[in-house]
Amino acid sequence: MSTKPKIVVLGAGHAGLTTAKKLIQKLSPEQAEVVLVNKHNYHYEATWLHEVAAGTISPNDARVMISDVISPNKATLVYDTVLEIKKDEKRVVLENGDITYDYLVVALGWKSNDFGIKGMGENAFAIEDIDSSRLISEHIEYQFAKFNNEENADPDSLNILVGGAGFTGIEFVGELADKVPQLCRKYDIDRSKVKIINIEAAPSILPMFEQDLSTYAREALEERGVEIRMAAPIKECTPEGFIIGEEKELVKAGTIVWTGGVKGSPILEKSGFDMVKGKVNVNPDLRMPDEEDLFVIGDCSWVWDNEGDRPYAPTAQLAMQEADYVADNIIALMKKEPLKNFVFDNKGTVASLGHSDGIGSIFSGYKLTGKKAAAMKKVIDNRSLYLVGGAKLVLKKGKVRPF
Ligand code: FAD
Ligand code: NAD
Repeated sequence: MSTKPKIVVLGAGHAGLTTAKKLIQKLSPEQAEVVLVNKHNYHYEATWLHEVAAGTISPNDARVMISDVISPNKATLVYDTVLEIKKDEKRVVLENGDITYDYLVVALGWKSNDFGIKGMGENAFAIEDIDSSRLISEHIEYQFAKFNNEENADPDSLNILVGGAGFTGIEFVGELADKVPQLCRKYDIDRSKVKIINIEAAPSILPMFEQDLSTYAREALEERGVEIRMAAPIKECTPEGFIIGEEKELVKAGTIVWTGGVKGSPILEKSGFDMVKGKVNVNPDLRMPDEEDLFVIGDCSWVWDNEGDRPYAPTAQLAMQEADYVADNIIALMKKEPLKNFVFDNKGTVASLGHSDGIGSIFSGYKLTGKKAAAMKKVIDNRSLYLVGGAKLVLKKGKVRPF
């Protein structure tokens, strides 16, 4: 029987795929067995899903076969769905069998969080993965395709409602502002017949940016025909639309999408882990408290800043940096050396507003808007591809379309 340690990584998103890549760079197959478990045989760039959902890129643009970027000779690739983690038995239950481990990295990502809003789960779409995002773009296109084929077509059926004006909601309506005119031309529908409505509970959009950037984003989107309603909490979702505010106004649409927040994978709760606001609070070395060999990273965990004041916002940037530390910490555990505490190197934040506009705050507060921000977002997207699959992948799937 093999005596080499078995390192199991659950999830091949930004956190898990980067962890597996780092481990196989740093350890030979003789030193440890690295096992990467993922639901599908592909990794997807989660940061591009709003584009898939709007139909401005195809699902295939956003996904990469795992075996193209991780050699099956260096890691065991398991395409299966995790059902539960039995940490006391060091065992993971998969749909098609169980797998044991010496070291475990949980990187199963996020799911949409509807905070228990009545009817949201049943009546609204959510941007969660390739399949759910493709469903949204196909549903929108179907609304356009059927409009001129129906007698007495419901004019509200062309409307697109987006609940929540955080990053995902705003990036999504930015793409829709690009896509809707194309669909109008394709299906002979007057642009004035289609409303893109973004509804936000807070008094402003994108509160994580300074006021001037948030105002720039709102005005730029409004100029391109997006209706943004702020201080309008969604109380309920029906098959017809959102019910908002104390007056219980019904805003109708044929496509309803919820982008009001995320929580960690449901597998965490199912496995009986201690949860705080939908995720696991981890120690500074990224291990689950009281666990020697179990790390939780990416959108499954909260990692607190050095002062312990607040957790870092869950992003791909954070997930990939955590992966570097986890790979080193697992090797330190194997060598019985001290572990490193995670230190986040925040390189800034950029949000797209469609293909050729955006806002950003980079390098400790340098602000960007317009085409410069859009170009920076594409540099970040291409860098992410480079980290996944090198220059070859950037040449194949990189974002090079001119403005
Ligand atoms: P994920 O990327 O969700 O990966 C989880 C992986 O686990 C997936 O491969 C999934 O298939 C797999 N999986 C899930 N459940 C199971 C299961 N039960 N069994 C087996 N496999 C499973 N962040 C940024 O820094 N910059 C951005 O510009 C940005 N843009 C974003 C745009 C959108 C539309 C969204 C939704 C998010 C964006 N984010 C961005 C946030 C970023 O995408 C996440 O923080 C990041 O994807 C988290 O990485 P992860 O590896 O934890 O999870
Ligand atoms: P979020 O939590 O950042 O934003 C959700 C928004 O929905 C908030 O503005 C909130 O006020 C609003 N909301 C919540 N309940 C509501 C209600 N009942 N009625 C109306 N509005 C309501 O969630 P997100 O935008 O999905 O982002 C998730 C994570 O992904 C974040 O951590 C974000 O940093 C990351 N992300 C980053 C980028 C980027 O860096 N470009 C892009 C997308 C997502």
